[in-house]
Amino acid sequence: MSFLIVGASVAGTRTAIALRQRGFAGRIVLLESEEHWPYDKPPLSKDLLAEGDVPDVPRLLTPELAAEFDLDVRLGVHATTLDPERQVVVTHTGEEITYERLVIATGARARTLPVPSGLAGVHTLRTLDDATALREGLAGRPRVAVVGAGFIGAEFASAARRRGLDVTVIETLAVPMSQILGEEVGREVSSIHALHGTELVTGARVERFLGSKQVEGVALADGREVPADLVVVGVGAEPNTQWLEGSGLPIDGGVPCNDRFEVEGFPSIFAIGDLALRRHPLLDVTARIEHWTSAGEQADAAAAILTGAEPPAPQLPYVWSDQYGSRIQIVGRPSLGDLAHREGSMSEGRFRAVYTDADNTPIAQVSVNDARVVAAFRKNHRRGGSLEDLVGESTPAR
Ligand SMILES: Cc1cc2nc3c(=O)[nH]c(=O)nc-3n(C[C@H](O)[C@H](O)[C@H](O)COP(=O)(O)OP(=O)(O)OC[C@H]3O[C@@H](n4cnc5c(N)ncnc54)[C@H](O)[C@@H]3O)c2cc1C
Repeated sequence: MSFLIVGASVAGTRTAIALRQRGFAGRIVLLESEEHWPYDKPPLSKDLLAEGDVPDVPRLLTPELAAEFDLDVRLGVHATTLDPERQVVVTHTGEEITYERLVIATGARARTLPVPSGLAGVHTLRTLDDATALREGLAGRPRVAVVGAGFIGAEFASAARRRGLDVTVIETLAVPMSQILGEEVGREVSSIHALHGTELVTGARVERFLGSKQVEGVALADGREVPADLVVVGVGAEPNTQWLEGSGLPIDGGVPCNDRFEVEGFPSIFAIGDLALRRHPLLDVTARIEHWTSAGEQADAAAAILTGAEPPAPQLPYVWSDQYGSRIQIVGRPSLGDLAHREGSMSEGRFRAVYTDADNTPIAQVSVNDARVVAAFRKNHRRGGSLEDLVGESTPAR
């Protein structure tokens, strides 16, 4: 038996290492488009953008680890085609690599806006090279515009403000993150921008970028113009499925797979990480979960299943975001419940919102600067505790 893993970020590298740790002794080949040894992405929008010495980005794999785990890692190799009948992946050089088991872990890329760009100073943020270019751009003390007030946009805005730069965040929604957190909590959490001197423009659509070679600003559909020398577009991510077009694999805004990570109809092909479209075992929703923790958990579970072992117990989705010195943590999917309890505020530097299902059982929580309530929420969820068990006598939201 041998494994070919395409994509060597969190999902791909963790699968490879977990396969070895579970005793798999056969061949493991990893293909990775980037030339860099695999690195972690969360610091790219956080520590890497801070002023001062360039911090080391944590590596997911090094030459030493690859040797220790006997992994055949091929960097700078882009998979271009998959032929499931012949069990072959073709690379950008035309090389054909055969597999017995294929793990697709090609993740996602930054989404762009449907407006022409090509101007210097307009960036997205997904890779180490993106972050390095942005770090250099920030050093020139530009006026900054951020398109999109999701986590990546908010973290970039925060990093730029912490350097004392003028920052405007432009968001299409009337309330940032309301599709995830609901209006009330979205409004509270995004108030962090104003508290730190970042201008937030909501309900705004980008019409075009201003400038001829170098960006000079952003023109909005309502006629307003936001001057900027550096623009970051943070409007979400698209799954990297282009190389699978024509392979016959199902592609539906991601790669649909079953509970065992098997791609439907292709028993020797597995999909994990940001691009996997899968029913979450605890939530009963089918979704791509684009969180660092989830990519690692999926890798561990897939490696267990692929080696015939029992997978670890599934966990609720978890994501964190660091903004202006505050840590925002979300457990579960707030959009699947109703806001049932809130306490604190962003201006106090501590905030918590709990969401319940129709039975008034807590199913999700957003919290700021309080790791203890994250642990308390998980514990309460595991034992099926009530809202009262979780929050005691605190003031309810309704
Ligand atoms: C800037 C940034 C900050 C983030 N911060 C957080 C955070 O604070 N908390 C959190 O929970 N999550 C965060 N995330 C999300 C988290 O990093 C992702 O969920 C995680 O990286 C997903 O891992 P993955 O392995 O599935 O996909 P990816 O990380 O997207 O990796 C896919 C890999 O496949 C490679 N690849 C793609 N196509 C091909 C091909 N055809 N051939 C060969 N290789 C290919 C790519 O080069 C890439 O290395 C952040 C993401 C970014 C970009």
